[in-house]
Amino acid sequence: MKPRTKFQFDVVARSKELPKLNGLMQEYTRTKIVEYKGFATKNRVVCMQCGEKFSSELVSRKKSVCPHCSTKITVEKSRCTTDKQTYYTAYAQIIGEYQVIRYFIHYCFFNAGYQAKIGSSEIMQHWIKDNGKCETVGYNHYVNIYCDSWSGDWEIRQEYSNYYSYYRSKYEIWPDKYHPNSVFKDRYTKYGINANLDGLTFLKAIQVIPNNPRLETLLKCKQYSLLNLFTSQRMTDTYWAAVKICIRNKYKVKDSKMWLDYVDLLLYFNKDIHNAKYVCPVNLKKEHDRLVKKKRDIQRKQAAERKRQQAQEWETQFKALKGHLIGIAFQEDNLTIKTLDSVQEYLEEGDALHHCIFTNEYFLKKESICLSARMKGEPLETIELSLKDMKIVQCHGKFNQPSKHHDKIIEAVNKNASIFRKLYKRSKQLQTA
Ligand SMILES: [Zn+2]
Repeated sequence: MKPRTKFQFDVVARSKELPKLNGLMQEYTRTKIVEYKGFATKNRVVCMQCGEKFSSELVSRKKSVCPHCSTKITVEKSRCTTDKQTYYTAYAQIIGEYQVIRYFIHYCFFNAGYQAKIGSSEIMQHWIKDNGKCETVGYNHYVNIYCDSWSGDWEIRQEYSNYYSYYRSKYEIWPDKYHPNSVFKDRYTKYGINANLDGLTFLKAIQVIPNNPRLETLLKCKQYSLLNLFTSQRMTDTYWAAVKICIRNKYKVKDSKMWLDYVDLLLYFNKDIHNAKYVCPVNLKKEHDRLVKKKRDIQRKQAAERKRQQAQEWETQFKALKGHLIGIAFQEDNLTIKTLDSVQEYLEEGDALHHCIFTNEYFLKKESICLSARMKGEPLETIELSLKDMKIVQCHGKFNQPSKHHDKIIEAVNKNASIFRKLYKRSKQLQTA
């Protein structure tokens, strides 16, 4: 957009006068930031810095030094012959009353047989006043899930929050490194905000660090992962106590999310979170996973116990509800039809025939009882009999399908339903008496 305010006009004018730093930043990226790879097959390694090949005998523990260009490379097993990496760098300087942060992008292309190529350009600048007001000048940052590019004219950029935007702030970018010659105002360096800044963007850092001594401590102790985590999550006194133990023991937390999860587990197990033995594990992942498993075992046991208690409760309810309608069986040739006499029997019937008689708690239904038709002790079908009119509500075999004895079962139940009618009537009379 065109500059409108005095501040914006000033920024645009001064921005154009700044000496170019592309060469300096590219050299810094080439020598200090780019991670050079070697792609290895069984016999040879391709150095992605100079493009030359050498014998894989020179590789030890996935590291090697290229005999052609003396670059230290990290070796990966791959048949690839090309690679692409993108880096962001930043350079901080003081211009007049402003703290200026200049951002650069570096596209790195690697090709077997060729020297690595890096294309660098300055993409954006933040001009920040002492009162915290900031103007952004630079190219348009076009970003979506398929694309991330900088283009258009060099002009004032304002951030429009866009509901569809996946990125919260497209002009607040996170450089891989600040150039070591960067200069920051004293008002920032006194809080530890300098060229080592990591874990936060500069704009976020100047916003949150001065008001938060705990975050300032994390920054000064280079606990960048924790710093990043606790800018988005509340730092409770309990967590802070554990963090202080890490700092005191010079224990660098690399994966703060996992570490915090682990501290929660320690609290769950009533472990002393003031003890470095617990808070600073040598192998965080191993300890984390061990406690997760331990907690899961406990939860599983608790669930089983709850289930057992529930079953006991159901058994009592069932006896009160249907105690007078159990223990009944009748025979029709080689077919036995019997009442289901406990909650356990409902469970076993449901498991044997794969239907929902147990899961849907048929044993607690007031208006019906369930019978099991069996042959040689094996369940064939389950019958639900209405107590109101002694009619069969449903009669199903395995997976709710009828068995080949279906008709015979129905006939037998109908023939004997009067037994239940009598028992049911008597129980009603007893209740009202
Ligand atoms: Zn090389």
